[in-house]
Parts: sequence; structure tokens; C-alpha cells
Amino acid sequence: MSRFLSGRFAGLEAYVPGEQPQDMQYVKLNTNESPFPPAPAVLEAVNAVEVSRLNLYPDPEGTALRGKLAGLYGVEPENVFLANGSDELLNFFFMAFCDEERPVAFPAISYGFYPVYASLYRLPATAVPLREGFRLEAQDYCGIGKNVVIANPNAPTGRAIGVEEIEGIVKSNPDHVVMIDEAYIDFGGESCLPLVGKYENLLVCQTFSKFRSLAGGRLGFAIGDAALIADLDQMKYSTNSYNINRLTMAAAIATIENNEYYVENGRLIQENRAYTVSELDKLGFETLPSQANFIFTRCPQVEGGALYRALKAKGVLVRHWDKPEIADWCRITIGSREQMDVLLEKVREILKEVG
Ligand code: PMP
Repeated sequence: MSRFLSGRFAGLEAYVPGEQPQDMQYVKLNTNESPFPPAPAVLEAVNAVEVSRLNLYPDPEGTALRGKLAGLYGVEPENVFLANGSDELLNFFFMAFCDEERPVAFPAISYGFYPVYASLYRLPATAVPLREGFRLEAQDYCGIGKNVVIANPNAPTGRAIGVEEIEGIVKSNPDHVVMIDEAYIDFGGESCLPLVGKYENLLVCQTFSKFRSLAGGRLGFAIGDAALIADLDQMKYSTNSYNINRLTMAAAIATIENNEYYVENGRLIQENRAYTVSELDKLGFETLPSQANFIFTRCPQVEGGALYRALKAKGVLVRHWDKPEIADWCRITIGSREQMDVLLEKVREILKEVG
């Protein structure tokens, strides 16, 4: 820290992203990316059309892409907001809607960026404990009288709640904004997008980083009431008006035009998830029910950190957190069948080694 840093940020603990090793090739199951490349049409759209136009700024309103997303989800373009990854969207949510008088609540075990934004904006924040088995209880948020952020399915657990439960939360907090972070919704969960037309205080956040194989393009979006979207726009135009670059916009449009390719990939991920869980079951692992493209699992013989390190030494990267409540557990991204077979082979080797 330099002596020039504002005192406002003295105690800030920044988010630590998952490892993105640049030196060696791992079987990379640590940051929930898709194992599948973008659809061939995406490569064409980026090569042929847009690279030669990089001398020009992109459309700050993202008109074409917002139109495509609105069409896909049956809403109007004014209900759609584009962000540089859903991380940026979350930033704008905290910036726009939360303050001393409007505190925020989120699950105590969830996406690690929520408390970082709360700390960045020095917000009064409530970390709501999960229930037995890391289950999120919707009742715990009903009438809470705070802005709410919930990942559904939750991360790193993979557990999801239903639309009716979400509706209960939204309905019972009419003077606060409820943000449902659906980063992993396309792997078997039930989206609450149909509620958007009914409630002016609901924002649904999604990303192109997982199901749509575009983590490197950085694109997230929100769907919600036009007035909430206009507020997010205020934040964007006060921060970075050209937040989505040309190449990402072209890639995303081609992505939406090739939706079936991604639906099929999503189906394969769910198949590989069921396969991985059943193989881990045979080895005595305990795995939470997951509706996401990852599983949260623990091994009775090997503690989470030790399993993470042993797998890494064998070339397989998974995710582990040192937090005491989840230190026994590892989060494993579901990749291709071949990747999961390598994981399982290495797990079997490790179990043999510990005897
Ligand atoms: N929300 C959740 C729950 C996540 O796990 C992630 C990915 N780390 C994000 C949001 C951010 O994703 P992105 O910025 O790539 O859209």
C-alpha cells in the first residue's frame, strides 16, 4: 500500500480470483468455465466482422445485443442491462442501491465477491447463516427489510431454491431490491425471470461465462424493471460508458443465434455431473445435490486442503477455501467426460496413497 491510498480503502480485503495458471497445463476444474469452446459461428463473427473495426468505439448502448437478449427472454430492450462480466453488474448493484440506510443481506456462505463489495462501499451487511447441509432457507430473507443478494444456485454449494421461494422474498421486501444471481441457472435450476414483469424490485443477473462458454469475453447482464435498469445505466455512465467491447458484443450475438449448441453442451454437463457424483459416491465421498456446473464434495479420508494440494500435484486443479465451515470440502467444476475421468483416476490414486 502506498502512503497515498485513501483511508477509505485501508481495511479493504480484495476478492481473490481462482487460480488462472499461465505456466503449465492443468485439467482445470477450479473456476467453473465451460470445457466446450464457443460455437464455430462465434469465431467467424469475431474474426470477419469486428476486428477490422477496432479503431472505432463500440455502441455504448449495446443496442443490437440488448435486442437479441430481450428477444430470447421475452422482455423489452429497456429491461436489459449489459455489464463487463456479472462481477461488474454486482458492483453497480451495490453502488446504486445500497447505503447506510439501505443495508444489504446475503448468505454467509456464498459468492466471495458479495462481502468485498459491501466492504468497498462500507455498507452495513448481514451475512445470513445457511441451514443444515448448507441449505438456503428462503424464510430467513422474507421481510428482512434490506436489499438482498442471493446466488441461485448458490456457490460454492450448488444447491438451488425454487421460484416460489424467491417470489416470497421479493414480495415481502417491497421497499428493497432483491438481486438473484443466476450465474449457474442453465444447468438444471429454475430461473425466476418470469417474475420480472410482476415485481418492480427484482433484478435477475446472468452471465455468458459459464453455460455460454464466454468467460474470456467478460459479459454479464441483468433483466429487471426499466426503472432499475435506468439506475444501473446511471452507474455505468458515471464509471465507464463503453463497458462492453466490440468483439465481445459480436461474439455474444452469435452465441445467442446458436443457442441449441449451448443447450446440448449444458445437457452433457448435467450428464457428466451425474456420472462424477456416482463415481465419487462409490469412493465414499459426500456430495451436495447440485444444480450447477460444479459440485461441492468432501472425502472422509482426506481433508479438503490436502485433497486440493494432492490433486494439484497430479495436474488437476480444483477449488478449496480455508474458511473453517467449509475447510473439509472442495468445489469441483464439471468438465468434459475425459476431464472427469482424469479427476477420478487421480482421486483413486490419492486414496490408495493415504491407505
Ligand atoms: N456470480 C457467481 C455466483 C459466480 O460464481 C461468478 C463467477 N465467479 C460470478 C457471479 C461472476 O461471473 P462473471 O463476472 O464471469 O460473469
